[in-house]
Amino acid sequence: MTYQTINPYTNELIKTYPFATDDELEATLNKAHQAFENAKKQPIAERGKILHAVAANIRKHGDELVRMCSTEMGKKVGEAKGELEITAMIADWYADNAEELLKPTPVKTSFPGEAEVLHQAMGIVMAVEPWNAPFYQVMRPFAPAFMLGNTMILKHASNTPGTAQMLCDVINEAGVPEGSLTNMFLTYDQVNKAINDPRVRGVTLTGSASAGAIVAAEAGKAIKPSTLELGGMDPFVVLADANMDDVNKVAPDARLQNAGQICIAAKRFIVMDSVYDEFMDSLIDYFSKVKPGDPLDPSTTFAPLCTKAAKEKVLGQIDEAIKAGATVAYQYPEIDLPGQFVRPIILTDVKPGNPAYDNEIFGPVALVFKVHSEEEAIELANDSPYGLGGSVWSADPDHGARVAAQIDTGSVYVNNTTSSMPELPFGGVKTSGYGNELGRDGLLVFSAEKLVMKSARSL
Ligand code: NAP
Repeated sequence: MTYQTINPYTNELIKTYPFATDDELEATLNKAHQAFENAKKQPIAERGKILHAVAANIRKHGDELVRMCSTEMGKKVGEAKGELEITAMIADWYADNAEELLKPTPVKTSFPGEAEVLHQAMGIVMAVEPWNAPFYQVMRPFAPAFMLGNTMILKHASNTPGTAQMLCDVINEAGVPEGSLTNMFLTYDQVNKAINDPRVRGVTLTGSASAGAIVAAEAGKAIKPSTLELGGMDPFVVLADANMDDVNKVAPDARLQNAGQICIAAKRFIVMDSVYDEFMDSLIDYFSKVKPGDPLDPSTTFAPLCTKAAKEKVLGQIDEAIKAGATVAYQYPEIDLPGQFVRPIILTDVKPGNPAYDNEIFGPVALVFKVHSEEEAIELANDSPYGLGGSVWSADPDHGARVAAQIDTGSVYVNNTTSSMPELPFGGVKTSGYGNELGRDGLLVFSAEKLVMKSARSL
C-alpha cells in the first residue's frame, strides 16, 4: 500500500506521499492527548463557534476541495459538490445541537437521592476512513468527537491522500485547536500501534468487512470500544402499488451514483412481477444513455472507478457471477476512454450460491430479482449477510412502512433512496457493522457514560 494520487480518468500518477514515521505518530499522540486535556477546560459553546467556522471554511474552499477529490478518485464534480455540502451541514448541525444533546440524563431510581448520567469525553479516537466519500467520511466521526471534547487521528484511504490532507488543513485553518484532528499517512502496523496506545480510547472504521474485522479485532484485544461502518447489499423493493414514475426516475441513479461505489447504493432491485417489465425497460433505457467522460466535466454522467485495482476486482466479480449462472439483461457498449471505466451492466437470475448473491459489488452492476409476493420480497431482502440500508416503494407510505419494518437493516427509506442527513442515525446490522454515527447516537458512541448518584446521607 502506497499513499498516491493517481487520476483514474487519465491514469496519471500525480503525487506520492511518504509514510509517517513512528516519531511523528508519537508526537501526534502527544498533541492529540494534550488537546483532549485542554478541551476539558473549554466551554462546549466555544467549540460550537469553531465548528461553524469549520463549515464556513469548507464552503469557502469548495472549488479546490472538489477538484482534488474528483481528480483523485473520479467522483463527478456535481456529486463531489453535493458531498461537500453535506459535510459542512454535519459540522453546522453538531455546532448547533451538541450542547443540548450532551446535557446530563436524569435517571429515576429507588436508590435514595438523585441519579444522572454524564456524557463525557474519553480521549483520542483512531479513525480509519475510505475514499468513496472522502469529505463526508471525515466529518461524520469528527464533528461529534470534537463537540464532545474527544480528539481524532485520521488514517484516510491510500488513494485519496491529497483530499484527506487538504480537508484537514481547511478544518484546522478555521481555528480547531492543534491536535484535535491530525491526518497521518500511517501504515497498517502504525494503525495497530495507535490502537494499542493507552491515550487512544476509541476506534472507528468505515470500509470493507475484511478490514473492519482486522481493525476491530485489534481494538477488542486492546479493550477499546469500536464502531464499524461496513459494506451493504441494500434492497430496493418495488411493491405492486408503487408509483412507477417515481421509481423509474430514481432507481438508475440509486445504483449508478459515484459509478456504483456507494455503501448505501441500491445493490439489489427486488421487483413485484406486475411491474417488473416496466421497471426493466426503464432501467435499461437509462443505463444505455449514460455519458462516460471526465469527472471534472460537468456534462459527464458516468465516471470511472476509483483505481485500476477496483476495476479489476469488479470485472472479476462480474465474470464470476455470469459463470455461476447470472443472465446479462443489459451491458453498456465498450467505452473507448483511457480511464478505469466498467461498463454498466444489469444481471438477472442471480441465485443463492452465486457469489454475486452474497458479496457486495462496488461498481455499476445492478442485480434485479422478480418476486411474486410481498413475503417473497421481504424474505429475499433479508437473505443477505449484510444489513446496511434499503428502500421500499409504495403509493401508500403506511403500506411501505409496514414492509420496511420487516427488513433487517440499519435504515429503510419509504419512497426515497437510502440517504444520510446529520440528524439521522446511520449504521448497519449483521456484516454491515455496528455502532451508529450521526444524530445523537454519533455523539454518544465514544462518550464515557458516567453515573453520578447524589445522596444527602448514606443508607
Ligand atoms: P477498505 O479496503 O476496507 O479501506 C477502508 C479503509 O481501511 C482505508 O483507509 C484502508 O486503507 C483501511 N484499511 C484496510 N485494511 C486495513 C488494515 N488491515 N489496517 C488498517 N487499515 C486498513 O475499503 P474499500 O473497499 O476501499 O472501501 C469500500 C468499502 O467501504 C465498501 O464495502 C463500502 O460499502 C464500505 N463503505 C461503508 C460505508 C458505511 O458508512 N457503512 C461508507 C462508505 C464505504 P488503505 O486505503 O491504505 O488500504
